[in-house]
Amino acid sequence: MPAASRLPTITSVRDLELLPKAHLHVHLESTVRWATLREIAAAHGLPAPPAPAGGPRPFEGFRAFGDHNSLVRDCLRSPADFHRVALEFCEDEAAQGTRYAEVTFTAASHGERLGSPQAPWRPSWRGSVREGGGTGSSAG
Ligand SMILES: [Zn+2]
Repeated sequence: MPAASRLPTITSVRDLELLPKAHLHVHLESTVRWATLREIAAAHGLPAPPAPAGGPRPFEGFRAFGDHNSLVRDCLRSPADFHRVALEFCEDEAAQGTRYAEVTFTAASHGERLGSPQAPWRPSWRGSVREGGGTGSSAG
């Protein structure tokens, strides 16, 4: 009997787009919407960060990833900024079917820049983001 005939027959395939997903490693700074970043920068009187030519795309190496995240970090200045980008991250993940995300966020690097290790955090919004802000996703 040929090997191919011993394989199970798939009779139905569920739509992969509709399956629940987990995002196991993502850096919050890498998820910020450009429109949001530009609004946040303007609110702080900072020059508008340049949008990537040709729209969002995968980073071309670790240097590009680091440079991008550095640009984003420079714009995030208040707890409200962090709250907004975290909730928008949850919204974007929920739209993709993500039910759970492990988000990397180096609060110390922001806190050092902003003068306090706790500067990016506000207890009033941490729980809200952990629960996904009502999006159906949650973050850990
Ligand atoms: Zn990483």
